[in-house]
Amino acid sequence: MLQISNLSKTYPNGVQALKDVTLNISNGMFGLLGPNGAGKSSLMRTIATLQDADSGTIVFDGIDVLTQKQELRKTLGYLPQEFGVYPKVSAEEMLHYIARLKGISNDKERKELVKALLEQVNLYNHRNKYLGGYSGGMKQRFGIAQALIGNPKLIIVDEPTAGLDPAERLRFNNLLSEIGENIVVILSTHIVDDVNELCNDTAIIASGRVVQRGNPEDLLNGFKDKIWSKRVAKDEVARYQSEYKLVLSKLSGGKMVVHIYSDTDPGNGFVAENATLEDIYFANIS
Ligand code: ADP
Repeated sequence: MLQISNLSKTYPNGVQALKDVTLNISNGMFGLLGPNGAGKSSLMRTIATLQDADSGTIVFDGIDVLTQKQELRKTLGYLPQEFGVYPKVSAEEMLHYIARLKGISNDKERKELVKALLEQVNLYNHRNKYLGGYSGGMKQRFGIAQALIGNPKLIIVDEPTAGLDPAERLRFNNLLSEIGENIVVILSTHIVDDVNELCNDTAIIASGRVVQRGNPEDLLNGFKDKIWSKRVAKDEVARYQSEYKLVLSKLSGGKMVVHIYSDTDPGNGFVAENATLEDIYFANIS
């Protein structure tokens, strides 16, 4: 269990990136969902012991994360948002290097581990290729392989599918879904579908604050019978925004569709819509 309590952080330039964040996260895949600039990376970097908070505490499995940094690092696997690779090193060489750094000094044991990891992330056939020649998706899968070295109990992946094409994204998400359910995996993302597909627990963060918390099913139940949709002309959207609680407007088949929030049937041509995580996301960040 990861317990984050009353965590706040203001950068020297005055930006308050985290405002009294409290989250209890159990084993399984947890989705931290929020728009760019919401504070996701600030929170991920703090949990990963790479930066300090101004106030608050983080405890993981009895480890005080903010003071026992070395202890936490032994049990952490981290795939950062900006993931640089040495371009002229092969995946196999790099995994050996990282495994040695993580203390796996027995040659046979390390060879078996590296082979198993390369197979797990589907890079075994590309093991001798330089990392500089890897596609975005291959780099991210390599990132997962390095994060898994040392049997971490806590894995953090920060915006892993941003910039991947749909096939690479699917492949990466399938890989993530195979990581054990007996560890805490935190997926930070602004892509609602990633959380929809993978996570059994989620929080939505906006402007440094947690604005929604729960498993996606419970969140959807809270929005049951409250989302209504209507096809409108593009130049009518502003009017609907002023007259209703507009949740989102989006193009669908070349036409504009608005979703509004209403406890009762708004009439006026609106039809009941099954709420999605996307509705909840937009209702909370706008
Ligand atoms: P996200 O990962 O959700 O996009 P970040 O945690 O990167 O959000 O950023 C949250 C806010 O803090 C943003 O306004 C960002 O510009 C600001 N910020 C992030 N890192 C720094 C930093 N090192 N110094 C100053 N401001 C920062």
